[in-house]
Amino acid sequence: MNKTHHISDLTPNAGPTDETQILARFRAVADQGVLRHALPQRFGGFEDDFAALVKTHRRLGEASRDPGLLLMVNAHLWGSIFPILLYGNDRQRETFLPKLISGQWLGGHAITEPGCGSDVQAMTCRAEQAGEGFVLTGEKRYITNVPLADWLVVYTKLDGKITAFLVSLEDQGCTFSNEGSLNACRGSATGSVRLENCRLDADRLLGKAGAGTQMIQKALEYERAFVFAGIAGIMEWQLNEVVRHSRERRSGGVHLGRHQAISHRIADMKLRLDTIDLWLNECARLCDAGQRLTLASAQTKLYAAEAFLQSSLDAVQIMGASGLESGGAVAELVQDALAGRLFSGSSEVQKNLIAALLGTGDAYRGNAQANQS
Ligand SMILES: Cc1cc2nc3c(=O)[nH]c(=O)nc-3n(C[C@H](O)[C@H](O)[C@H](O)COP(=O)(O)OP(=O)(O)OC[C@H]3O[C@@H](n4cnc5c(N)ncnc54)[C@H](O)[C@@H]3O)c2cc1C
Repeated sequence: MNKTHHISDLTPNAGPTDETQILARFRAVADQGVLRHALPQRFGGFEDDFAALVKTHRRLGEASRDPGLLLMVNAHLWGSIFPILLYGNDRQRETFLPKLISGQWLGGHAITEPGCGSDVQAMTCRAEQAGEGFVLTGEKRYITNVPLADWLVVYTKLDGKITAFLVSLEDQGCTFSNEGSLNACRGSATGSVRLENCRLDADRLLGKAGAGTQMIQKALEYERAFVFAGIAGIMEWQLNEVVRHSRERRSGGVHLGRHQAISHRIADMKLRLDTIDLWLNECARLCDAGQRLTLASAQTKLYAAEAFLQSSLDAVQIMGASGLESGGAVAELVQDALAGRLFSGSSEVQKNLIAALLGTGDAYRGNAQANQS
């Protein structure tokens, strides 16, 4: 079963969207099977591979031109579906995966707090054992899919060790809000989670108590590997736009593209895009072969985030003032690309991680595990 050919039916992002439109776009891509790749058939997946996932996300990027929608899909996949698949017990998998994979429920994960982002180990959100269950207290900030999400994987400290819980908007003592919403990736929602003596039954513990650091690391490895697959599709559109413009616009009696200052920028954009594709395919190959992804995913995220920002700046420069027209997609991508250097762990954090994996740099303070999404 492969329904990805319907993706091109999706209309391109036409600027700021309200929460109803955001959810409607998510449900539309879910209906097209976008969330089913590389997942077991018994939970509603296609049981195919990560190479297929990369192809679909790339096509989704080209069709939607919507970094917010792509971020939404990625937070849902790597933040909730894959952690439940990898660490959930049988009952949790049966309860959550079919509804998340079909898109009936929207998920995500909450790691970042007002007081800590890159330094995950500094999180202050805490969980305490209360009888058979737990009580959670604290605040999470800049969480993709909040306040729209039905369920989140929330990371807290239990006995000083990071531990994951499944938290619903409907849990007593839990509030999802728009606080901290961002002026980037506007096709998605980003908000806060407040936990005030939020009581959870024992069956909401996800994975083993104290295993949260490893779980965050695994979720972020996947996210860093694939979060730019859809954006590569947008960059293809961005490149086509500047090529078209450079052929149509004239300056000094020749087409813009005849000026080497312009054509070299375009050549650089093409090289960046093709290099991202190589990295994405390499990550898919490693996943499909069951090989380790830690280094490759950090390299992919670092390269792709920097490349997306530089190409977005180049696109505006080539388009001139028309690239900055208000509400224009080309200008909006610059803002989105700035966010791309922060989500799933900043570029600096990726460099720390790469250096630590090579046995050098600041390998301390958990940099080899550092955030984030
Ligand atoms: C669009 C978007 C969506 C997001 N979605 C989610 C989500 O779904 N869930 C979630 O939990 N979080 C989410 N985040 C938060 C994101 O993970 C954090 O923004 C990121 O981890 C960086 O943390 P910070 O913003 O607090 O910056 P800080 O950690 O305060 O860092 C500020 C600056 O200092 C640099 N810096 C920090 N530490 C070091 C260091 N050790 N070495 C070198 N430089 C360093 C950083 O690179 C950055 O440039 C999202 C963010 C964005 C922008």
